[in-house]
Amino acid sequence: MNQYHNPSPRRRALVIGASLAGLFATALLRKAGWSVEVFERSDVELFGRGAGITVQPELHEALVESGADVSRLGVEITDRIAIDQQDRVIERLTYPQIVTSWDKLHHLMRTMIPGEHHHLGCNLQSVEQSSTGVTAHFTNGRVEKADLLIAADGYRSTVREIYMPEIQPIYAGYVIWRGVADESAMPESAKDTIFDKFAFFLPPNNKIIGYPIPGQDHALEAGRRRYNWVWYRPVDKDTLETMLVDESGAYYPISISPHKVRQDLINEIKRAAKDHLPPSFSDTLTAIPRPFFTPIYDHFSPKMVFGRVVLIGDAASVGRPHIGMGVAKGASDAQALANVLRDASVSLDQALATFEKDRLDVGLKAVERGRALGEYLLLPHHSDNTPRNAHWQEFHSVHGILKNTASSDFLKPL
Ligand SMILES: Cc1cc2nc3c(=O)[nH]c(=O)nc-3n(C[C@H](O)[C@H](O)[C@H](O)COP(=O)(O)OP(=O)(O)OC[C@H]3O[C@@H](n4cnc5c(N)ncnc54)[C@H](O)[C@@H]3O)c2cc1C
Repeated sequence: MNQYHNPSPRRRALVIGASLAGLFATALLRKAGWSVEVFERSDVELFGRGAGITVQPELHEALVESGADVSRLGVEITDRIAIDQQDRVIERLTYPQIVTSWDKLHHLMRTMIPGEHHHLGCNLQSVEQSSTGVTAHFTNGRVEKADLLIAADGYRSTVREIYMPEIQPIYAGYVIWRGVADESAMPESAKDTIFDKFAFFLPPNNKIIGYPIPGQDHALEAGRRRYNWVWYRPVDKDTLETMLVDESGAYYPISISPHKVRQDLINEIKRAAKDHLPPSFSDTLTAIPRPFFTPIYDHFSPKMVFGRVVLIGDAASVGRPHIGMGVAKGASDAQALANVLRDASVSLDQALATFEKDRLDVGLKAVERGRALGEYLLLPHHSDNTPRNAHWQEFHSVHGILKNTASSDFLKPL
């Protein structure tokens, strides 16, 4: 194998995956003085996809650090509410937060990366390492060498599969149905009850949540925003298998694209919403033409660094979405990596060891917290002998769910 020799004074990194963790890594490493190329397997820009994201403090900090314009980041909400089946507010918590869309964040970060360093249609196939660097081989025949390879290639990471094939996503036992409704299409009564709030309806073993997000073209003006609608529902593995089949009978292991979700399943969720949800949530669903579902998985890789290869974001670990940390964790993995790689006098091995020690801990805490919050969906709500996590009482209470959902407070030192 050829040794990699970088004649340039600037160290060179390859980032695999140009979703959010990859874009943050690219922007922040460029700021730290590295030369960076980012490779995305999709042939087309990832614009126009995704739904709602809560802006955790860690995400805000990484955006500011990367130089992104945070002036119109999202919708500012102050209250969380829980409602009962008749739309009556049964619990209220003041919890100021900015809520935005995946698309807005992608747009902000994508505009930070010059076109000549952003490469679409490049699907990483294999990686070789020598003592001095790393070589990436892509399915289109492209070969790239660098000092470091950063794998931001998501929860089914090709790179993690090479180095830790035993780490596979674990099905949580439930799915989220979701969709976004145009504010202008929502019935007035639903808007009055839930629109400008982070709203919850919490029947046993189900969580229905929603919050406003920017509209088309990231609009924040009243009337042009959208509402992010989410229903967590338990689904056993056998039933899930039948749901991962599209209209033509094709089966998709793990997950199915939103546009492939069958109409009979959409009809069923709409019927169930009418029968079981409060009017504000079921009426909002009528304004969502094609809700879709995503099975929930998590995983934790006990290693993030493999010589000159490092895993970040969902490639390294995924906590269940109750904590709302996916994007925030990917962004702060990237920020922590850029911080340790800024000083060229520190050896790469030493810098990466520091990074791994710090970020493994965050990843593990996120996975554990997501699982603890998820028990609400799976365990019987009457008292029995099923072992429960130490936080069961709190995470089972309406107040505790309002306080701990989409919150990164658990990462604060005690
Ligand atoms: C289009 C899209 C929409 C999303 N919408 C939401 C949302 O609405 N709400 C939410 O909470 N989360 C959403 N996510 C997930 C969210 O981005 C992640 O949980 C979080 O930001 C961490 O992201 P990541 O960059 O580590 O991984 P991901 O966002 O999963 O991105 C991984 C990227 O790597 C690319 N990739 C994978 N394998 C290869 C390969 N071999 N070679 C090159 N590229 C490769 C993928 O195409 C993808 O772009 C979305 C992800 C995507 C890709």
